Amino acid sequence: MRLLLLGAPGAGKGTQAAALAERFGVPHISSGELLRRHVAVGRKLGRKVAAYLERGELAPDALVSAVVEEALARAGPGYVLEGFPRTLSQARAADARHVDGLADAAVFLELPDDVARQRIAQRTAAGRSDDRDREVVERRLRTFHAETDPVVDYYRDRGLLVTVDATQPPDVVTTAILAALAGTS
Ligand code: ADP
Repeated sequence: MRLLLLGAPGAGKGTQAAALAERFGVPHISSGELLRRHVAVGRKLGRKVAAYLERGELAPDALVSAVVEEALARAGPGYVLEGFPRTLSQARAADARHVDGLADAAVFLELPDDVARQRIAQRTAAGRSDDRDREVVERRLRTFHAETDPVVDYYRDRGLLVTVDATQPPDVVTTAILAALAGTS
């Protein structure tokens, strides 16, 4: 199973990706986590990436794609990938690089912006600096709609999209995803 998770900040991509990866016995890959790890290591690439993350801007396609492809190569045949692709050009380039496309299905965790704002405000205690600044959060939401809404449409057009109501409790969302995936195969 090769699965993508798409959704606004706060939609629960990380939580659902972890649950689905465990369920399917495949690695969980998060583009945001991969980038944050580069920042933590603190070398030149990390310092460059940090500036994008702090501002809530997307990191450059080539950089993110390289980091994600390296993780995919290590993952083997199955994976749950969250946070990538986030732009139409990332999606098109990734599909072109993989003979069978990047994924068998794409799950869209649908969430109203107001709920996303509330959730992010609540999780700041957990410590992500890009969750603390309201302006940065608003930029990430705007970027999501400008850049990633078209990615959702891209997978919908290809018949690969499964949409789930992400306002529900985490275990209910997981069950809904599994039911929707069972319906598509
Ligand atoms: P969230 O979805 O809550 O914003 P992520 O951990 O997925 O959290 O992403 C955090 C940040 O990492 C983004 O704001 C962006 O700067 C960067 N990032 C993650 N994935 C990508 C991507 N595919 N392309 C460009 N930048 C990305």
